[in-house]
Amino acid sequence: DAITVGELAKRMGVKANDLIRELMSMGNMVTINHPLDFETAEILAAEFNYEVENVGFDEEAILNVEADGSQTEDKLEDLVERPPVVTIMGHVDHGKTSLLDAIRETNVIAGEAGGITQHIGAYDVELDGRKIAFLDTPGHEAFTAMRARGAKVTDIVVLVVAADDGVMPQTKEAINHAKAAGVPIVVAVNKIDKPGANPDKVKQELTEFELVPEEWGGDTIFVEVSAKEKINIDGLLEMILLQAEVLELKANPNKRASGAVVEARLDRGRGPVATVLVQAGTLRVGDPIVSGIHWGRVRTMINDRGEQLKEAAPSTPVEITGLSGVPDAGDTFHAVKDEKSAKEVAQHRAQKLREAELAKTSKISLEQLYARIQQGDVKELKVIIKADVQGSVEAVRESLLKLSTDECRLVVIHTAVGGITESDISLASASDAIVLGFNVRPEPKAATMAEAEGVDIRLYNIIYDAVADIKNAMEGLLAPTM
Ligand code: GDP
Repeated sequence: DAITVGELAKRMGVKANDLIRELMSMGNMVTINHPLDFETAEILAAEFNYEVENVGFDEEAILNVEADGSQTEDKLEDLVERPPVVTIMGHVDHGKTSLLDAIRETNVIAGEAGGITQHIGAYDVELDGRKIAFLDTPGHEAFTAMRARGAKVTDIVVLVVAADDGVMPQTKEAINHAKAAGVPIVVAVNKIDKPGANPDKVKQELTEFELVPEEWGGDTIFVEVSAKEKINIDGLLEMILLQAEVLELKANPNKRASGAVVEARLDRGRGPVATVLVQAGTLRVGDPIVSGIHWGRVRTMINDRGEQLKEAAPSTPVEITGLSGVPDAGDTFHAVKDEKSAKEVAQHRAQKLREAELAKTSKISLEQLYARIQQGDVKELKVIIKADVQGSVEAVRESLLKLSTDECRLVVIHTAVGGITESDISLASASDAIVLGFNVRPEPKAATMAEAEGVDIRLYNIIYDAVADIKNAMEGLLAPTM
């Protein structure tokens, strides 16, 4: 584990005596065989302009070691089917919350009655012995915020469209967020109980987004439901399970657990409380875990019915206590060998975070585009287009797509009429895209967020200027902006 002074000197290619002298100046009287703790080694390395990685902290190795000391690997025979994880998205008032409630009420896990429902941020239901997990925070904001932190949790998006209202701006946003994440969409045409309901109109409108029902020759599953009257809720679950079968979702339950944080908060009595979704392995009470920059041991584990669990298999959402602090939604969690390892990883991450904060590493920008294409680091430039009128959106999209080269493809991941919103920035951040605005400005909150996340926003009045900028950026000819 710990590296000695001599070993560190060898790896850095400096004389052991120089290191010892440096250590002495820091107040450490040591010999060549003295073991160094991680932080001291790190400070020392920095003195000689070495980076943390050079001292050999291997986070992956710590996270992937099994009880017997072997490295984790998934053998084919270990992989078993796991339930799908679903997020519900759609335009405001189209019935996302009502649908989540209806699903929950009609399909409580068989065999238990009168359990007290806990809102822990996710729940699971059962249909004919098959489970489905639902994330309880509907909408693409939460979905993309988690994705921006690196968590890929959702297997299937259920897109809710009200049959009396049709495709609306947030419907389109939801589609683009799901597509950017590569997550398949099942369409729930809701409110079919309403007199003005016109499901065919919804289907027609969605064909424009390549969501074509099977009866029209496409491969998108459409289900007509009423969340309010609880019509065809089981039908929707059936179809989700059908889509899941196509995806062949598998996980290995026979290893240490890992997954993502769905929601977390500080509870007055219980301390930090986190709802996590187990994505692989099996999580058990007592397991030492690390999540983001926090560590601890799973002290208690409950499900959304308030039942105490001893263990949780893949795709099970559970609320746990025992962490040293409150992680962020979208942080990963890992069960590890012992609490010491958990703490080491957490502290190492905190250190990295401080460094990143200082370096303020930014996302893709037009300025660095050429260099990154040359390094082979970037093969696509992803773009979000916002404009004051639909005509400009289309004109910009068409001119931009023509700029694609063999080295760098141009991909437009979202377009809309209107100002630049926080949702645009979070999509850009999660997808490493730039945002182009034509005769529009960012909303103040969006501007602040872009600044914090290092998202490049470019504002133009003339389409030609934008096209010229991007063309120049791709060829390394962009004039630096002040
Ligand atoms: P959300 O903003 O997408 O979460 O939408 P809500 O679930 O809050 O629903 C918005 C409104 O539509 C509420 O007044 C619901 O009662 C109503 N609503 C939701 N589903 C249905 C439905 O299937 N039929 C009818 N008639 N009303 C519905």
